[in-house]
Amino acid sequence: MDAEQLRENAHKMVDFIADYYKTIESFPVLSQVEPGYLQKLLPDSAPDHPESLQQVLNDVQDKILPGVTHWQSPDYFAYFPSNSSIAGFLGEMLSAGLNIVGFSWVTSPAATELEVIVLDWLAKMLKLPEEFLSVGQGGGVIQGTASEAVLVVLLAARDKVLKRVGKNSLPKLVAYASNQAHASLQKACQIGGIHPENCRLLKTDSSTSYALSPDALQEAIFKDIKAGLIPFFLSSTVGTTSSTAVDPLSALGKIAKTSAIWFHVDAAYAGSACICPEYRHYIDGVEEADSLNMNAHKWFLTNFDCSVLWVQDRNALIQSLSTNPEYLKNKASLGNMVVDYKDWQIPLGRRFRSLKLWMVLRLYGLENLQSYIRNHIQLAKHFEELVAADPRFEIVTPRTFALVCFRLCPLHNGEDCGNQLNHNLLDAVNSTGKLFISHTVLSGNFILRFAVGAPLTEERHVNAAWKVLQDEATTLLATGLQ
Ligand code: PLP
Repeated sequence: MDAEQLRENAHKMVDFIADYYKTIESFPVLSQVEPGYLQKLLPDSAPDHPESLQQVLNDVQDKILPGVTHWQSPDYFAYFPSNSSIAGFLGEMLSAGLNIVGFSWVTSPAATELEVIVLDWLAKMLKLPEEFLSVGQGGGVIQGTASEAVLVVLLAARDKVLKRVGKNSLPKLVAYASNQAHASLQKACQIGGIHPENCRLLKTDSSTSYALSPDALQEAIFKDIKAGLIPFFLSSTVGTTSSTAVDPLSALGKIAKTSAIWFHVDAAYAGSACICPEYRHYIDGVEEADSLNMNAHKWFLTNFDCSVLWVQDRNALIQSLSTNPEYLKNKASLGNMVVDYKDWQIPLGRRFRSLKLWMVLRLYGLENLQSYIRNHIQLAKHFEELVAADPRFEIVTPRTFALVCFRLCPLHNGEDCGNQLNHNLLDAVNSTGKLFISHTVLSGNFILRFAVGAPLTEERHVNAAWKVLQDEATTLLATGLQ
């Protein structure tokens, strides 16, 4: 890498990205291209001779950006947010610049040590019990995604119980979660060799706002034990993907403890809010948990990917995931003096992701991060009030964080709420390109989801989005396209 060439080209790239952010509101939020569009625009094979950066950037502008859905647009309200920030961006840049591969401490001591420190900082911000800090038997690790986080803890839990009951008992192991748990749990069970029928997704309904009922869990565990099965894993969620339901951690955790079940808390989305004292109670009961995950890349201003996982017993992870080939042996590892994160994750190689989280924590500080979360929750509350004031719409579940679940419901008095109508409204709104929202299904009803959380979103964007929703609803209702 030629340093001067890097300087010149990186400046150009930063200019390009800055201009992108300056004009981000001019793009359709949801890309409007058809499948296969890019094949028609790019050559069949790579060039034989080098091209200039400018030529590539021209193609990015003309051919790539039309196929981009603009997650950083202030008019992005779909799924959950995937935040970026200058701090996170600079951290990513630094990580790309250093480009180390920090699988063992010795491969870049700073990468491991910074990760340990930063995750202890964040654990303290969340007021996690000391058992999750690196000082004792626990500690934190950055995974790529929440899916990887739940997989590694499920594997640790599986191997821990199999050590006790024997490997032949694998077909008897049972995992539990609510039917609102993210699909990554099912994937983890598949990969972990858990019998497909033994991944229990317990029923929830509107009576608990779609939270897992401790009674339902207890009943399922009793039934399984009676049938000769072995309960081993419970994944609870704080902020479910569909509607941000919060499972009651304390009650669930006590049941898990009594039955010697590994208790995981998936706070991928809502964990960020728990740095605010007024939302911390949503993870009360975390002291009963064996592990907790939060995606800093969702709602914590840290560029993708950065999924934080804490465990109370790091040895459980290490025993399940460690390998010790000759070519990786070194004095520090053999002397048991260091953390080797390769043994806390699926891949060997790992990026220097703690840099961006460190930069976010330092360049914002706790107070600004708390204000950031509070502002989004306030904007979501504002949107909720707008919806509630229009008699054609209804709020479907109580809002807890910055997600509003609602639907167009023109026929009140117990009549059908019109799944097709809401489907049509979703399509109509998203094809305007003026905003992007997503949907879910709860109790058989098609629901619209409005998730505030993009860093650039202000009240005017929420108001403008609501105006589009109202206008499209008016048009649909008038044309009878229900
Ligand atoms: N858990 C919850 C509650 C989620 O909402 C999501 C994604 O939105 C995930 C897990 C999976 O996240 P990831 O993409 O990091 O695997």
